[in-house]
Amino acid sequence: MLNPFPKPTDPSELRVGGVTPLTTIDYPDHLSAVIYCQGCPLKCDYCHNPELIPSEATTPVPWHEIVSFLDQRQGLLDAVVFSGGEPTLQSALPAAVNTIKKMGFLVGLHTAGPYPERFAALLPLVDWVGLDIKALAEDYAALTGSSKSGSAAWQCAEMLIESGIPHQIRTTLHSLNSAPDKQRVLIKRLSTLGKTDHKWQTCRPSDGQNTGASLPGN
Ligand code: SF4
Repeated sequence: MLNPFPKPTDPSELRVGGVTPLTTIDYPDHLSAVIYCQGCPLKCDYCHNPELIPSEATTPVPWHEIVSFLDQRQGLLDAVVFSGGEPTLQSALPAAVNTIKKMGFLVGLHTAGPYPERFAALLPLVDWVGLDIKALAEDYAALTGSSKSGSAAWQCAEMLIESGIPHQIRTTLHSLNSAPDKQRVLIKRLSTLGKTDHKWQTCRPSDGQNTGASLPGN
């Protein structure tokens, strides 16, 4: 487990592998841009953004270009979503979130919840969270290659539901969670944590086209 985020940090240190300039689906009911943070500690075999798993991007997007782009989109976009990869891997994330909030945008976070301490620190800063709960905690290691990833993700689910922050918990259908009895137990365990919005989703193909590559006007 990583330590809580160190302070202070410089938002320009955020390693970004791609940006989607406009989307209607990544922050419910809002027009948003998505910043794809580089690096992920997990190795899901269905990963739809494998190019984001290495810590360094092949074609990184500089932070100043992102800020400049968003500056031109004020009044046109409602929100900015930090996705990945795994955004909470990077120490610069809270500073980057604060920069975006000061620009007047809502901030969304997509995470698989591998770092509960960091997740707890981020919750007061964000407006909406999309959390992946990939399977029952005991089945995670076979899916992600990380023995502690299941307990970490479920800890984050507990914190998220308790926080009352608008959110969605998503589970990608996969051989480890497709059996009806596994699905029933997963839903039951989530329901014991409190009121939540849970969605089953299908795998997206691994075509490397999900991150966007360039920013218009940059
Ligand atoms: S957590 Fe997400 S980005 Fe990381 S390997 Fe799994 S699917 Fe890919």
